Amino acid sequence: MAETPSGSKPEGVAAATRPERLSEAVASSGFDALLVTRPVNIEYLTGFTGTNAACLTGPDIRVFLTDFRYADRAATEVAGWDVEIVDGEWLAGVARCVSEYVPGGTAGIEENHLTMRTGKLLTKQLTGGLSLADSGGMVERLRRSKDAVEVAAIAAAAELTDSIYSELFERGLVGRTEADVAGYAVGRMREHGAEPSFTPIVAAGPNGASPHAEPGPREIREGELVVIDMGSRLDGYCSDCTRTVATGEIEDEASRIYEVTLRANQSALEAVAAGRSAAEIDGVARDLITRAGYGEQFGHGLGHGVGMEIHEAPRLGPRSDDTLIAGDVVTVEPGIYLSGRYGVRIEDLVVVSADGISRNLSSHPKDLIKVD
Ligand code: ZN
Ligand code: ZN
Repeated sequence: MAETPSGSKPEGVAAATRPERLSEAVASSGFDALLVTRPVNIEYLTGFTGTNAACLTGPDIRVFLTDFRYADRAATEVAGWDVEIVDGEWLAGVARCVSEYVPGGTAGIEENHLTMRTGKLLTKQLTGGLSLADSGGMVERLRRSKDAVEVAAIAAAAELTDSIYSELFERGLVGRTEADVAGYAVGRMREHGAEPSFTPIVAAGPNGASPHAEPGPREIREGELVVIDMGSRLDGYCSDCTRTVATGEIEDEASRIYEVTLRANQSALEAVAAGRSAAEIDGVARDLITRAGYGEQFGHGLGHGVGMEIHEAPRLGPRSDDTLIAGDVVTVEPGIYLSGRYGVRIEDLVVVSADGISRNLSSHPKDLIKVD
């Protein structure tokens, strides 16, 4: 992470540090404390990048636990927490710490991360009438409001991805295999000190009709639609972008679904605003695609949050309960997939801001371009 979390200000929400914001959330949740065990959440809260740690936090508690292997790293990376080094068996040490700090109370745990077995072992070793209960993704909710440092990291990752799109299209697609194009993109990311935030999708012709196609040995031909979906991870933050291009003349229906998908993308982008429901934004794109006769061919949600993870809260889809908040960074990625023929997806990454003007971090042009 580029900066210690305690120094960065959430964008448009509250000028408190991450641990302070979490303490407030814990206090209003009714838990006496929260035990954080998911590594990505620990890194978010403390800056710690090791693989074995836990955080116990509550209104008057801010304890960071790790084992002796990470004592030096904790001393360098973790500020503002009482660091305790667990001797002996790890879970027993964690149980001892929670029992000591939250006597007779209720501690929230990250049940979606802990295995049943770990949860049971932990519970067995608690003392003093302490109980555990699922906290339901409390840190994941905090992580939604990206601060300025985080938005800058995501924007830099998006910019790198945009520049690689330009390179791919200048280099040409026809005659190359999907796997070659994907491999080239990954190589360029690494040369820039980044990693792919997921295995890139390069899907030509009929392969483009599958939203999760894996790049294979198929050679890209002239006169096809090619869907490319890729993102970089730079300084711990991900980007995500999809562009669809044509390699020469394409049939009328291919052009038509491109136009419909583009309008759906643009209309949904205009609708993105803090306070609006994620299902409603999905509906803007979905209604447009449905009216054009392709509702059944848009078989996935409109988008997802992006940050330290490529898929994080919120979720934009017809059944999402989420409401957009300032600081959310989300994708808007409608698609139309005609089985056995071809597909189109156009994906941008936007920051939801407090002033109602959302910022699009994906700047690669979206008019249908012809690539040789
Ligand atoms: Zn994507
Ligand atoms: Zn995506």
